[in-house]
Formats: sequence, C-alpha cells, structure tokens
Amino acid sequence: MADIASNIISLKQQIPTSVKLVAVSKTKPVSDILEAYNAGQKSFGENRVQELMQKKDLLPGDIEWHLIGHLQSNKVKLIVPFIRLIHSVDTFKLLKTINFEATRLNRVVDCLLQIHIAEEETKFGFSIDEINKMTGSEDFLNLNFIRICGVMGMATYTEDTGRIQKEFRYLAGCFNKLRREYFAEKPWFKEVSMGMSGDFKIAIGEGSTIVRIGSLIFGERK
Ligand SMILES: *Cc1c(COP(=O)(O)O)cnc(C)c1O
Repeated sequence: MADIASNIISLKQQIPTSVKLVAVSKTKPVSDILEAYNAGQKSFGENRVQELMQKKDLLPGDIEWHLIGHLQSNKVKLIVPFIRLIHSVDTFKLLKTINFEATRLNRVVDCLLQIHIAEEETKFGFSIDEINKMTGSEDFLNLNFIRICGVMGMATYTEDTGRIQKEFRYLAGCFNKLRREYFAEKPWFKEVSMGMSGDFKIAIGEGSTIVRIGSLIFGERK
C-alpha cells in the first residue's frame, strides 16, 4: 500500500518551490484525496467532469480543482463556477463556450491552451498553427471572461527520454513565442503545465511551472 503522505513529502523535495504540484487523483477514492489533503496538498487534478463533481462535494471547500482531461462543451457549465484552472482547452469552440458560461456567471476562468506535442495521434490539443490563427482573429479578443494563463502538453509515452525532452522543449518554445507575440502585456500568461510521474524531472529541466502527478502519489491506477 502506498503511503500517500510520505510520497507527497518526497515529491516536494524533488520539485523546486517555484513549480506547482497538482496531485492527479483520477480513479482514486475520496479517502486517498483526504489523506493527501491532510499532508498539506491543496491542488488536485481530475480528467472527468462527472467524477470531479462527485468527489468535490465530499471534500473540503478550500481544495483547488484543476481539470486536466478533455472537456466536452455540455459539461462546461458544471465546472465554471469553481474550477481553478482548465489545463485542457483544445479548440477555439470550447474556449468560446467557456467564455459564454463564464460571462453568465460573471466569473473569470483561467485556462491553458493544450498543445499537441506527442507522436500519438490520439492525444488532444491545438497545433501551433491553429493557435496562431485563433489568436489573430477578432473573436479571440472578445473572450472577456477568459484568462489564458499559458500552455499544457503531454509528451509521448515512451522510454526514449531524448524524445520526451525534445517534445517538452518544443512546448516551452511555443510558450515563449506566444508570450512574445500575443501575451506580452498579460502578466498572468506564465504557466507551462508539463510533466507527469514518469517524466516530471525532464519537464522541470525544460521549464515546467506546473507538474501533474498521479501514480507517484497515489500508486498505480488499475
Ligand atoms: C493521468 C494524467 C496525469 C498523471 O499521470 P501519472 O502518470 O499517473 O502521473 C497527468 N496529466 C494528465 C493529462 C493525465 O490524464
């Protein structure tokens, strides 16, 4: 059995204080999350809205919830009232839907643009060309209830650390370019969400500001 509290303490020793740790609790029970919470962990990431909503209601109100998985338009309404950060915005249409719901609630929602950096075709995300097209459009300037805080990406699932490093370096490069070209006057555009249990050290080496770690905290998922 994994000792969640000591896993967190050990991870905190490996992660610079400037890098935020999001504990990925998908598939794990509320009791595990509470154990992490009691060890001082306040930020948790889930990849499914339904699961997030169920757990949230059973847990302390000061937990910061992060959505890290693909978000369907019809679920946006549910999370807009409380979500701390949506890491997985992967289309312009989704961004507009989030803005629509956020406007109705008069709550600004922080989002990251997920960029496709992996070899696998199944992973969601924008290409940099799609982002350039979006940021250059007039509609984009009217997203008054969205704060784009940076980018997110997932590297290829591989043993090839050289390849992972290359992908993270590419993502950090996209971030720097976007900041220069579109977000220079937006001080909140400062996050690079990259790095999971198997590759967080490489990600930190390449400039990650947020790591999303599940198995190293809660044990392997079934
Ligand atoms: C599951 C998941 C993680 C965490 O994965 P681990 O390998 O268990 O650390 C991070 N990011 C995303 C988007 C995920 O879906």
